[in-house]
Amino acid sequence: MAIKAVRGFKDILPDESPSRLKIENCAREVFGLCGISEIRTPVLEKTEVFKRGIGEHTDIVEKEMYTFHDRNGESLTLRPEATAGIIRAVVEHKLYGKSPLLKLFTMGPMFRHERPQKGRLRQFHQVNVEYLGSSEPAADAEIIWLAWEILTRLTGPDDLLVEINSLGCPECRPLHRKDLKFYLENNSQDLCEDCQRRMKTNPMRIFDCKNEDCQRNLKFAPVIRHYLCPDCATHLGYVLDILEAYGVPFVQNATLVRGLDYYTRTTFEIISRNLGAQSTVAAGGRYDGLVKLMGGPDVPGVGMAIGVERLLLLLGQQEARQPLDLFIAALGRDARDEAYYWIGHLRRHGIGVEFSFEDKSLKAQMKQADKSGARYCLIIGEQELDDEEAVLRDMRTREQEKIGLDDLPEALVEKISKEKAGE
Ligand code: ATP
Ligand code: MG
Repeated sequence: MAIKAVRGFKDILPDESPSRLKIENCAREVFGLCGISEIRTPVLEKTEVFKRGIGEHTDIVEKEMYTFHDRNGESLTLRPEATAGIIRAVVEHKLYGKSPLLKLFTMGPMFRHERPQKGRLRQFHQVNVEYLGSSEPAADAEIIWLAWEILTRLTGPDDLLVEINSLGCPECRPLHRKDLKFYLENNSQDLCEDCQRRMKTNPMRIFDCKNEDCQRNLKFAPVIRHYLCPDCATHLGYVLDILEAYGVPFVQNATLVRGLDYYTRTTFEIISRNLGAQSTVAAGGRYDGLVKLMGGPDVPGVGMAIGVERLLLLLGQQEARQPLDLFIAALGRDARDEAYYWIGHLRRHGIGVEFSFEDKSLKAQMKQADKSGARYCLIIGEQELDDEEAVLRDMRTREQEKIGLDDLPEALVEKISKEKAGE
């Protein structure tokens, strides 16, 4: 019996690659506009990186990580997200000390043991950005702008919406936490098992529960917005002002949370109306305590992640591959031997060439030329060798012309390059 891929781990087949490339290229272009450098960290880290970097009392660490012991008995984990590993690397290589503001991006696979469904895989991909070293609202706004700009360049703005909230800071959050706990203790009738636990360890996280009963229970729960200290309120107001200046539309969502202690102030998601249950395409926020928690200096941070597979659902399939310039139909050993020189020359000069590896009939080779989608087909057989002229067929107009063999590759390079430059 043939072996199948692991559940939730999807093959990326050739048809899908152009759409992914389009996303990656678009992201790189936008990152270039903001002076962001690329970092690539390993997909495997010590488990401790995520326990500390994401938090023990989170869904990811409690339920979703691919953790195993390697042959030396060390506990390792496939990264479920990018931030913790990036901060581990920044601290390890002392990158922060070299510059007051670090702007980093990365792209790649993440791994979470969740129930696979539309828009939810066990190996999925993210485009991530992290800014380390600024606590200014302008940094938060730039991060949100980046996500918005990349998504709207690819899909248009119509079905996307930025939702934004502030989670407060270590100064104002304890008050909210206290009141929320009190509220939950008196309204915990229908809370799910997870939320019963969250109530004790991480009550704010209950807002994030997808269970409808839990949501109903929270209808009149106190929200952090009414508890923000003056600094946090000013910060949020400023972020919103800058977003307005950038032309990014948003709504405030008082129940949007990231329930980790060191996530502070700005939190946001970009939602699409066209994705059903898994509607969040991008998410991010500020995490001022995290670098210190990971053993580094006390520097603030803010970042975001775009879910590539959810974006792909919005984008649909893009054109398959780069169109081919030329197909060479060479018949007989002598013509084929000559053609290999031309093929080498043409490809060295940027002309895309395919040919049949087998010495098939003219009819069979022309069929292959048609399938290849080539702009031109060059035909060379015994007769053409004798005449010292090959036939060049325009595959669009079906017109044919003769080209002398003497300087054939040079002439073809000139003709095709000119045409490509003019397009
Ligand atoms: P969700 O509530 O959908 O589980 P999350 O809060 O766990 O999302 P984040 O950790 O904020 O997600 O990850 C950022 C983005 O990565 C998400 O908004 C989503 O687009 C994408 N993402 C997260 N988990 C998956 C997954 N299992 N499969 C595909 N994409 C995912
Ligand atoms: Mg999740």
